[in-house]
Amino acid sequence: MSNSLWLSTAYPRKPYPEVDEDITCDVCIIGGGLSGIANAYFLAKEGKDVILLEKDTILSGATGNSTGKLTAQHDLVYAKLLKQFGQDNAKLYFDINDAAVQFGKSIAKKDELRAADSILYSQSKLGTDLLRYEMKAYEELGIPGEFGKNSELPIQIDATITLKNENQIHPVRFGQHLAQLAVEAGARIYEQSDVILMDLKKRLLSLQSGHEVQFTELILCSHYPIEALRGLQIMKLSVDRSYIVSAEGNMALRGQYIAVDEPKRSIRTAQIDEKTFFLLSGESHQAGMERETLVHYNRLYTDVKELYNLSTMTHGWSAQDPQTPDLIPYAGIISSSMPYVYLSTGYRKWGLSNSIASARIITDLIVGKPNRASGLYSPDRTGFGSFLLQALKTTGLVLKEFTSGHITRTDSPICTHMGCRTRWNNGDETWDCPCHGSRFRKDGSVLEGPATKPLNL
Ligand SMILES: Cc1cc2nc3c(=O)[nH]c(=O)nc-3n(C[C@H](O)[C@H](O)[C@H](O)COP(=O)(O)OP(=O)(O)OC[C@H]3O[C@@H](n4cnc5c(N)ncnc54)[C@H](O)[C@@H]3O)c2cc1C
Repeated sequence: MSNSLWLSTAYPRKPYPEVDEDITCDVCIIGGGLSGIANAYFLAKEGKDVILLEKDTILSGATGNSTGKLTAQHDLVYAKLLKQFGQDNAKLYFDINDAAVQFGKSIAKKDELRAADSILYSQSKLGTDLLRYEMKAYEELGIPGEFGKNSELPIQIDATITLKNENQIHPVRFGQHLAQLAVEAGARIYEQSDVILMDLKKRLLSLQSGHEVQFTELILCSHYPIEALRGLQIMKLSVDRSYIVSAEGNMALRGQYIAVDEPKRSIRTAQIDEKTFFLLSGESHQAGMERETLVHYNRLYTDVKELYNLSTMTHGWSAQDPQTPDLIPYAGIISSSMPYVYLSTGYRKWGLSNSIASARIITDLIVGKPNRASGLYSPDRTGFGSFLLQALKTTGLVLKEFTSGHITRTDSPICTHMGCRTRWNNGDETWDCPCHGSRFRKDGSVLEGPATKPLNL
């Protein structure tokens, strides 16, 4: 399984070079997803000497496995943000994500982006109540949503909130184009360049190839902060794995939909090279916690067939995204004791606009420009009850898995990150770690961090 529609329809291109010598740079970015690429673009535009290191090929991580909705409608979020952060900050979150959507629109080519209304829908009384509550927040924040019953889907829908004229992208083609723009602005991008060690005091990175990179400033866009940073952000992120399937569609939808009820469903279409695809996602679970993951694909396939009457499945894939305990991503300096190390992560499955918004924040911090959102997105913000609760929950899980991983001998190999026992994922044929979401291929090689070393099989 795990064969993304986007990765299989990427623009043909030459690979970026591997690092084959020691390098020095102003800013080094680890990770070639949309976060890393957006940072490379903005910083190169500001005249910085930037390099980006990607361990595999750019965009093959969460970005190339997402649903590709570039929108500021991030599920039910504004009522929660309003309550938790107040009016100014909730509006700020909308504004910077909206600016990111507009940025995307301003640079994208025809094959990369299409306008679409973003639509939240309910199918129950409870769901409709949640929508009404969310709509109140939209009104209070001045977000131009419309409450009503706006759907072209062949399923029963009770109510909707529509945010008009948002965008949907082909995340890989869009990212490839942005990477090319970054290179044209002077950034150097490297692929197959795996960072295996960070000496933050010496500002030195070691690569798998044996070469070293000396940096003045470092940005971690590796999706999940990699191993050397354990103990910092690592206990504060939880990771969910989600499943997506696509089928040959017969017509393009004008909207992109997300259900507020259970089962969670996210729906869009995509037109790629004259073909129309229908995408359905929404099945998910805490990363690394399930073996029989085929069941999630099968539920989606059944819905596609029975509810949408489409029978030719084309792709099925899965991905995961970390989330912070308080809904806002981390973008900024990790700690005042290391003011030259920046982090960008925790997008809660809304990282396409948030990647761009976060890259804007980090770039402004690096070039010394004021940015209204730098406090809100700061990784060292504290003080929320939910934060504490989530951190305790995650730590509890880590300790349990860590202990059982060390005491019992079963067939599953031990994760090379922090010693938790991995679980076999039948659907994707990978070893998944339930502690921090590392994933390994069948042969033990690292598919997704934070682990950097292969399994000992
Ligand atoms: C199922 C699903 C659907 C989603 N749909 C949407 C959506 O519709 N809209 C939306 O806004 N968001 C969506 N998201 C979220 C979005 O895809 C992510 O938040 C975003 O793509 C994260 O980008 P990134 O650059 O941080 O991570 P990634 O794209 O994962 O990039 C990180 C890169 O770092 C590299 N890396 C890791 N370790 C190292 C190392 N040691 N050395 C060098 N390189 C390294 C990896 O190989 C990877 O390429 C979705 C997420 C999921 C899981």
